[in-house]
Amino acid sequence: MTDFKKAATGLLKVATMTADELASRKGEDDMFVKIKRNSERLSNCSGHDFEPQPDWRSKGWGMLDRTVHCRACGGDMKIGAAHDYLRGFAHGSGQDLKSITASIWPPES
Ligand SMILES: [Zn+2]
Repeated sequence: MTDFKKAATGLLKVATMTADELASRKGEDDMFVKIKRNSERLSNCSGHDFEPQPDWRSKGWGMLDRTVHCRACGGDMKIGAAHDYLRGFAHGSGQDLKSITASIWPPES
């Protein structure tokens, strides 16, 4: 097998393993295990409850790369993805997106 094929097969194997399966081989400190654990927490959450980030304005544009923590499942989500999630939630529930996001990222007072 070529090295590339071997690497691709290895990656596919890792991608299809559960966090527990991968952790039994690599341990909990492995980066992919941590990503999978986070992904499983987020997927199994019955409804995200994001922790407010009142200091978000001081983060500048770098905040787009940051994550927001869910108090319900303990998962961390990229802010852009969290915003999309909240948009869908607001749409589905008929709640106002602005007031939902303002409770997490408060507007300038
Ligand atoms: Zn959650």
